Amino acid sequence: MTPAYRALLDRLRSFTALNKAEGLLSWDHAVMMPPGGGSSRAEACAAVGSAMHALIAGEDFGRLLDAAEADNPRGPVEAAMIRWSRREFERRRRVPPALVEELARHASLSHGIWVEARAKSDFAAFRPALEKMFELKRRQAEALAPSGDLYDAWLQEFEPGMTTGEAAGLLEAIRAGLAPLAKSVLARGPKAPVLSGRFPIDAQKRLGELAVREMGFDLSRGRLDTAAHPFCCFLGRGDVRLTTRYFEDLPFSSLYSCLHEAGHGLYEQGVAPELDGTPLGTGATMAMHESQSRLWENVVGRSRGFWKRWTPRFHEAFPQTRALGPENFYRAVNRVSASCIRVEADELTYGLHVILRFELERDLLAGRLRAGDLPEAWNAKMKAHLGIVPPDDARGVLQDVHWAEGLIGYFPTYVIGNAISLQLWEAALKARPGIEAEIEDGGAPSLLSWLVENVHSRGKTGTAQEIVAAATGGPIDPAAYLRYMTQKYGEL
Ligand code: ZN
Repeated sequence: MTPAYRALLDRLRSFTALNKAEGLLSWDHAVMMPPGGGSSRAEACAAVGSAMHALIAGEDFGRLLDAAEADNPRGPVEAAMIRWSRREFERRRRVPPALVEELARHASLSHGIWVEARAKSDFAAFRPALEKMFELKRRQAEALAPSGDLYDAWLQEFEPGMTTGEAAGLLEAIRAGLAPLAKSVLARGPKAPVLSGRFPIDAQKRLGELAVREMGFDLSRGRLDTAAHPFCCFLGRGDVRLTTRYFEDLPFSSLYSCLHEAGHGLYEQGVAPELDGTPLGTGATMAMHESQSRLWENVVGRSRGFWKRWTPRFHEAFPQTRALGPENFYRAVNRVSASCIRVEADELTYGLHVILRFELERDLLAGRLRAGDLPEAWNAKMKAHLGIVPPDDARGVLQDVHWAEGLIGYFPTYVIGNAISLQLWEAALKARPGIEAEIEDGGAPSLLSWLVENVHSRGKTGTAQEIVAAATGGPIDPAAYLRYMTQKYGEL
């Protein structure tokens, strides 16, 4: 390690420490903070955000970076660290500090406004905050990509290395595959049992914790808490925080959000120790992250093998389910229905919920749609894609936290992650044929070790395309995903 690279790394470590402080402020906001803390938390977030910006956007950082780049040769981690720094530096110095601070402050405030508006299903109360958010994000995109596609600037915040054209191509292939399949399955009508009654939250909590532990999530390096909207907060490989939520009338919701968030959490806990404390000590991209959560939630958690293991546990926790066998549970958790809420959607229609949001974001950006007209446009698209109209805006346009927090350009990564999850699954099965038998015995240690080796340990040293190519031998391709969906839902 040369002195110039050492100086760069010291700066990056300070940046990463502040990034974790910001993450903890956000986790606290969602999990612990009393309602009265909103405005002072917004100030704190804005201050941390601008301190982070100052560390890697100024001319002094440019000089550190130039000096480190001038030192050749270097290893792959050093090369990736410099690549990350160059990209962040270029991105950040283009955005005026006042705009960065305003965005951070507005994101925190608008989150609070969204929580109240959603509770009252009052879009009009959220509309000014949403309009301001899209306006600030448009100014940010114009600063980042003055001549290119503005949506690229948003997408690349979450999916570095992927263009809007590539994402749109993948989503269109997925839509073309899913739409007719969903239509025929929905037309057949549900053949699966619906579990009703009360499912005590204490029992749900025990099962959720058991599930994440059995997957291999290390609770001495993580936590599981309750939040309004489940998420996973990464504070380094030694402190990974999962959240879920509980509904007494829904037996599977908390279990599957635990599997989903723990899939994200395993990724973070599996990052190579030498990357910890640096900007590369985290998951590669949002699509890669979502490939991990969806793999555990759907491919593992909604399999027949999983329900051979979990049926007796449900019988014990919820005695009213004792007449149901593993095949009944398997069908119940894979029940397809046209529903309003994305995070509660089945595996088959989920992709269509995401594609709807991607289409709306692009319409808003292109000026084909105004924020004030969103509820109508949302409902029209729900009708077109899923054949239903939400009964109110809380179950329509207000349901997601993303736009309130400025996470625009994020949605496509969900469905691209689905596609990657099946590519990785096929590659892992080829390398470790015992995985499916292990799922029946609880957890899937061979799957986890394959993922650690081929995905998790690499952290952010490559793009999604690079990691998928190295792990599977091919480019990102929805074929494996569509094959899996067609086979599974054709048979169900
Ligand atoms: Zn996720």
